[in-house]
Amino acid sequence: MKVNHVRGDKRSKSALAGNPSWSGDLKRTRNAGPGLDYKSFDGTGFSTKAVHAGTTDDEKTGAVGTPIYQTSTFLLDNDQYDSIEQGHARDRFIYSRYGNPNQWAVQQKIAALENAESALVFSSGMAAITAAVMALVDKGGHVVASNELYGGTHSLFNHDFPNWGMSTTYVDPSDFDAIEAAIQPNTQVLYFEALTNPLLKLADLEKLVAIAKKHHLRTIIDATFVTPIACRPLDWGVDLVVHSASKYLNGHSDLIAGVVVGSRKLVDMVWPKLLNFGGNLDPHASYLLERGLKTLSIRMRAHEESAYALAKYLDNHKQVKNVIYPKLPSYPDAELALKQLKLGGGMISFVVEGGDQAALQLLKHLKYVKSATSLGGVESLVSLPFNSSQASFTNKQREDMGIFPGCVRLSVGIEDPQDLINDFEQALAKLAE
Ligand SMILES: *Cc1c(COP(=O)(O)O)cnc(C)c1O
Repeated sequence: MKVNHVRGDKRSKSALAGNPSWSGDLKRTRNAGPGLDYKSFDGTGFSTKAVHAGTTDDEKTGAVGTPIYQTSTFLLDNDQYDSIEQGHARDRFIYSRYGNPNQWAVQQKIAALENAESALVFSSGMAAITAAVMALVDKGGHVVASNELYGGTHSLFNHDFPNWGMSTTYVDPSDFDAIEAAIQPNTQVLYFEALTNPLLKLADLEKLVAIAKKHHLRTIIDATFVTPIACRPLDWGVDLVVHSASKYLNGHSDLIAGVVVGSRKLVDMVWPKLLNFGGNLDPHASYLLERGLKTLSIRMRAHEESAYALAKYLDNHKQVKNVIYPKLPSYPDAELALKQLKLGGGMISFVVEGGDQAALQLLKHLKYVKSATSLGGVESLVSLPFNSSQASFTNKQREDMGIFPGCVRLSVGIEDPQDLINDFEQALAKLAE
């Protein structure tokens, strides 16, 4: 009787009794997905992928776009029971923590955008990062990571890793000798961010992957700041890409979500962590993320247009020094940016004359540019590393990292460039008074 097969005791008994039925059948194939449909978008542009991949019209009504499947559970029949028995439960709908049509729609869209076989969506970027790292690092394992990590990731590595016997060595992401020197016999993963916060240092993906291959390690790249429109780390040989989808992927500052993207094999290793840690994304939030993703490509071009114009303006302003933006000739990783980035993106960092107090005043005077943490939304947001992302460091530590007093981090939205320039013009003028 099939119904017993979902029960743990029966499953373990059948596993003990011998090989599962599929083990001799090496012709067994899996969908790269899983997904609602398997239309190929190979060879199409990224705007087309953003709109169409993963999105499925409702068969019953003809309603255009993926319906919202606001359900916790699904009718079970033999197909589902067999999928559990045969180890491909990820490809069937069983229970919404395991998978839901709205999650699948997002996953297919992201996978298409990242040129990946497979993706998983999570309830936050941190849930995605935790699941990805825990899938690839064993008890006692070691990670070599950037010394400029997102605060939450740093906290995971520093505070939770030791409880699981795992450890991390932090290195300068551009010091390849230091990266190799940090590798130990128990190292399993290189973990870096494609573009760092707030100094926008670019990770050299080709070099990192070469080091990883030489030492038989896996690479995980947090690509939140670049998005697949500007850079697709899997194309460079990276093993897993993680994103905080709360930022550019969703793009409207109205939900928290995360994704893990990679080969079907590795993403299948991450899936059990999603089940156990429980960081799944609600169907309605998945629907919002799917909707946001449809405009990713066009939004990224608008972010870049406004950011580039504003970066050039700030670079010429006498009260502003050291503007960092990937398309400026002064960008420290300019050569690498040409090779690796298809767009300059929407993030700028700069230093205002007069230090942190002047920066605080600047934020007060801005009208359209809102003072808030986070990034990647249609509205411009500004924050100061000294009292937000890097608040736990001393002035001296921040300066050693290259974060000087007056450093401002700007996430440029999609407002008209001239309005943003005017806003900074009036706010900087007030500082000079
Ligand atoms: C925001 C962010 C995260 C964490 O994502 P949440 O969605 O807030 O959990 C991770 N990495 C980077 C680079 C981020 O900017």
